[in-house]
Amino acid sequence: MTVHMSDMAQGAETLQQGAHRQSLEDPQGFWLQHALELVDWDKKPEVAISKTKPDMLHKALWFPDGRLNVCYNAVDRHVENGRGDQVAVIYDSPVTDTVRKYTYNELLREVKIFASVLRRHGVQRGDTVLFYMAMVPQTLIAMLACARLGAIHSVVFGGFAPAELAKRIVDCQPRVVLSNTCGLESKSKVVPYKPLLDKALELAEFRPHATIVLQREQLRVALDPARAEYYWDTELALAAAGADDIACEMVDSNHPLYMLYTSGTTGTPKGIVRPCGPHVVALLYAQRYMYGLQPGETMFTFSDFGWTLGHSYAAYGPLLNGSTTVLFEGKPVGTPDAGQLYRVFSEHRVRVFLCAPTVVVILRRTDPDGLFRAKYDLTHMRGLFLAGERCTPEIHRWWIATISGRKPPAEEALIACGRDVCNVVSDNWWQTESGSPMTGICIGLSADGTKVAPIKYGSAGLMLPGCDLRVIRVKEELDEDVGVDENPEFAERDEVGNIVAKLPLPPGFITTLWKDDQRFYESYFRRYPGYYDTGDTGTIDSDVYVHILSRTDDVIKVAAHRLSTSSIEEVIFNHEEIAECCVVSRPDPIKGRVPMVLAALRFSPPRVPEAQIKRQLVKLARERVGPIVSLYETNVVFVDRLPKTRSGKILRKMIRMMVDAVHERNIAGEQCLVDECPIGTPATIEDLGVKSEIWRTIVDEIRD
Ligand code: AMP
Repeated sequence: MTVHMSDMAQGAETLQQGAHRQSLEDPQGFWLQHALELVDWDKKPEVAISKTKPDMLHKALWFPDGRLNVCYNAVDRHVENGRGDQVAVIYDSPVTDTVRKYTYNELLREVKIFASVLRRHGVQRGDTVLFYMAMVPQTLIAMLACARLGAIHSVVFGGFAPAELAKRIVDCQPRVVLSNTCGLESKSKVVPYKPLLDKALELAEFRPHATIVLQREQLRVALDPARAEYYWDTELALAAAGADDIACEMVDSNHPLYMLYTSGTTGTPKGIVRPCGPHVVALLYAQRYMYGLQPGETMFTFSDFGWTLGHSYAAYGPLLNGSTTVLFEGKPVGTPDAGQLYRVFSEHRVRVFLCAPTVVVILRRTDPDGLFRAKYDLTHMRGLFLAGERCTPEIHRWWIATISGRKPPAEEALIACGRDVCNVVSDNWWQTESGSPMTGICIGLSADGTKVAPIKYGSAGLMLPGCDLRVIRVKEELDEDVGVDENPEFAERDEVGNIVAKLPLPPGFITTLWKDDQRFYESYFRRYPGYYDTGDTGTIDSDVYVHILSRTDDVIKVAAHRLSTSSIEEVIFNHEEIAECCVVSRPDPIKGRVPMVLAALRFSPPRVPEAQIKRQLVKLARERVGPIVSLYETNVVFVDRLPKTRSGKILRKMIRMMVDAVHERNIAGEQCLVDECPIGTPATIEDLGVKSEIWRTIVDEIRD
């Protein structure tokens, strides 16, 4: 059914807007009620949020007097409540031809055994355990085992190269490192992890107390006991006898559950610290009310554990909810075909699916007519959620048409969500920092589905409870030195600006950066006192729907994966033919955005042919950052010089804006004139001539 905003009761508040209003008017009452209803506490909180001085609101803590254990809430309590025989985890791996199911009883047993392994290696509450693992159930079991002991896990995405892994090892100083011998990109493409881990430990000059390695059939590696390397299975056998005694360590509500590294504006990754209690409340709230998932139903989140989506909704969310989670080890296409996701939906009766839009882009390109989709019955599906990057209306429409088989509503229309339709396709906006969605459409607030707020193409939905979002006007459009805006001006409806959240932040958000409280403050709160700076630009429209447009900083999203341009610049700069460089992103039809390098050469003419330098740079970036970097030779451009401020800073933002302007014109079929740059000139530019040179280069390079 198609509805228009005007069809909805004039000025009437949707259920979601009502919940949002209540959460802001009475945060204590709202969140305490949900915290008590959704969570089993060892000590129930009596206070929802701690009192702080007005200038310290970013340090406010949720449920400060509560005590709990996250593993208990995700596993033990369901066994105690009679769900022991229900399937908790389905591991579906077309690349190893495996489907393995774990009931809650089995999961509890496995988690206890692995907790016993960790205990035997001295892991205590507050210790860190680093993971460099693939999408296998052992990863999830070990994460839960850490949570059981009150240890802090830090899962690093397997696509990161040794140098990036080393930075994370140095920062978190893990007592134990967990790894597997390999990851699998397809049945025949094995990615050996162990040599990468060895190299990273060498670079980090760090020796953990123990490294426990899961041997996979596809690659067996001899371990070295002299280097405290242990076989996973042997450790399980040794620990099994003591497993029954491994009780849940009750921890304070704000004890860190995990630390997850994400890219910031510098090459040093940020260790996002996630608090236990507030995160559980936020996850369960979104699980029930936004994703509309009931206990006993199945959720499939297509995201590696190394990302926030994977932590929240492949690992913890469905289990906390007493639901079933699907862990998929494969690709949208090619393992072996474009029908695998539909097969998983159908075979495991998936109710809710969550993935990045890039997955849909790939499916659409490979199987535009949905021929594979047609083979499966998907009538049991309810919610299809997209997150990680903006979902464009074309992709949104294709997914609705393909999944539901119905004609998608027209451009200006809003999509009404009934109870049993499988075309609730909704974009939701997240950050690693938030750990759960900040905007979206809550399909679970209305029992019969009739009062769900409509979905709008191109928008990431309405604000979720606790998220008090505002759009702030960008005053100095081209100010490269981020100053402090003491008196922010709020943008009008539909006016583009920087998106901020009024403090306090909702439960479950980052509480600090690992061992770097100062960077925490500087990164998120300094610029707009009293607000959290999301780093995203966008608008809030006249129906209060939020639209996310792009990043304001040097972070890029490549196939929904967050990378810092500085970490790529570091690598490029290390090449001996490069004098200086700047990395920005350019739009890409499949990956959303990919890096584009503008570099000045040290020697004229260069000592090696330019084409060879380009090849070497691409190889270096893959080796040092990892294959996710997606740097292509065609996106390496040599320039005579880079535009700078008088204080010598590269005018990255101006370059970014030029790339986007050229791209937009190309899409609109408008010609870009090399002599007419539409981007304003920063007051601080050192040499105006460089601006025109760079504009001309960008116009020439982005001709597609
Ligand atoms: P990450 O921390 O890796 O989850 O990346 C967070 C960033 O991804 C956000 O700050 C946005 O720039 C982008 N992002 C996430 N979800 C969306 C969405 N639904 N629409 C647009 N951008 C998104």
